[in-house]
Amino acid sequence: MERLQGIAVSPGIAIGEALVLDNEGFRIPRRFLPRDAVEEELIRLNGAFEAAIAEVEHNRQQVADQLGDEYAAIFSAHLQMLRDRRLHEEIEEMICGRHYSPEYAVSRALRRYAKVFQSLEGNYMAERANDIFDIEKRLLRNLLGRAREELSTITSPVLVLAHNLTPSETANLNPRFALGFVTEIGGPGSHTAIVAEGLGIPAVVGIGPFLTDVSGGDTVIIDGDQGQIILHPDEETLARYRHEVEDQRSLAAKLESLRELPAVTRDGQRISLMGNIEFPYEVQQCQERGADGIGLYRTEFIYLGRDDDPTEEHHFEAYSRVVQSMKDKPVIMRTLDLGADKMRSLPGPEDERNPVLGLRSIRFALRNRDLFRTQLRAILRASSLGDVQIMFPLITTIMELRQARMVLADVMEDLEEAGVEFDRELKVGMMVEVPSAVMMMDRFVEEVDFFSIGTNDLIQYCLAVDRSNKDVANLYTAADPAVIRMIEQAVSVANAHHVPISMCGQMCGNPIYTMLLLGLGIRRFSVTPAAVPEIKRVCRSVTIDQCQGVAEHVSKLESARATRAYLKEELTKVFPELPL
Ligand code: PEP
Ligand code: MG
Repeated sequence: MERLQGIAVSPGIAIGEALVLDNEGFRIPRRFLPRDAVEEELIRLNGAFEAAIAEVEHNRQQVADQLGDEYAAIFSAHLQMLRDRRLHEEIEEMICGRHYSPEYAVSRALRRYAKVFQSLEGNYMAERANDIFDIEKRLLRNLLGRAREELSTITSPVLVLAHNLTPSETANLNPRFALGFVTEIGGPGSHTAIVAEGLGIPAVVGIGPFLTDVSGGDTVIIDGDQGQIILHPDEETLARYRHEVEDQRSLAAKLESLRELPAVTRDGQRISLMGNIEFPYEVQQCQERGADGIGLYRTEFIYLGRDDDPTEEHHFEAYSRVVQSMKDKPVIMRTLDLGADKMRSLPGPEDERNPVLGLRSIRFALRNRDLFRTQLRAILRASSLGDVQIMFPLITTIMELRQARMVLADVMEDLEEAGVEFDRELKVGMMVEVPSAVMMMDRFVEEVDFFSIGTNDLIQYCLAVDRSNKDVANLYTAADPAVIRMIEQAVSVANAHHVPISMCGQMCGNPIYTMLLLGLGIRRFSVTPAAVPEIKRVCRSVTIDQCQGVAEHVSKLESARATRAYLKEELTKVFPELPL
């Protein structure tokens, strides 16, 4: 059994068969064979070896003709390996003796060799490991007879283990079959992580290299609460996790009973609990969980999987679906937040070395006016169908906000002239996700109808830590005292000026922080739909007085570790049975 630690990005436990995708998306479909299939499968294996040898010979010949023999020599190592008798015997033994499928046996044997090379020092050895992966891929391609596995077409339940998944690959996962995923790279605030939370499947990222230790079909456990993956679990561990899955099911059933009840603290303070969505279909999840509205619609996800710009009609169609389904509940549409790790297929500056500090978000929108205006027209048209509000992302300076508002006013004028219906009084707000916005809150209060704190970015920019980088993930935490002070400052200025302020970053979907945030004066939360019931439960179990005491205590702490430990302790006092 092997237990590996990564970064927990979406909670829950998943137990099942691994689907291992390497950088090229190969999948090994089957682990065991029926006894009477062994002969046939050995023939298939030999066929794959022969085809692979013929391919490499062909490549060698081509390179020799074009570049000369010395360049062609690089293929010799591959041929030597493919002809190695011991390797053949080892694979055949797995097929005959253990009834492994040829795909599984090839993968297991070659990954074992690759691992030995990887454990040796030096670039030369690492290159040899890559050669072995190359051979594995070639053999698998011949055995499987096709190249890339389409994640959207998985038809049996699996746990997806991959080097990396892009936000669009993640969004394509069907949660009925993809029960969870783990990636070697990726950080805590990446958009892949956000999409996983939206899908409501357990996910762990940033585990580091581990795909050589596992083969398709192996039983694995993903512990999305602790950020762990357990390979080859023993019976005792499996039994313990199965028990935990049962506990989670009964907790979910208990939370279900809260659906129709309001989020009100024990001393009568009504809390607004809204949902974050990326796609129109998530509205249903918000309704099922009793959300008070959509507090953050990440509209940029409309770009996912498309090469061209969406038209005004594409935007309008998506928005009107959301607004009409939510009836008269508020829908806060954040204007396009493109750039950084989101939808990079769009043309952008070529020499952007720090995309997170570059032409992203509102900056990108203001430089691409046509695209921005198209979206604003669609939002405004949708505003005639319900309670639509507009929110600008990543506002850094007052001038930037004013420019965005000017574009909006201009689009409004156009619509008015054309006699198109829209809500002239629609509320306009901004996200608070850059320290400069916090520092200038007393000026921003004059210019917007509401604020929403985006902690995912605020943490990144406050602590100078890339939200997508696993190597600095230990520094990326909402529990850092500097982050908490930023939030406190933003909330107290907004509250003093009676400008509504909410929070929509991942922080407020984590129950550990609920008491602190209530104590700091936040009364509106927007969380991933799956988190609505749990946050509601915390709100309904505490008093504002008690939460202010918690915030008071936290303000005296000096480290993220102490803050987290204290907040866990306080939450455990409220829910002794909660697994933390
Ligand atoms: C945030 O930064 O907290 C936020 C909600 O926006 P996103 O995660 O989409 O950047
Ligand atoms: Mg953000």
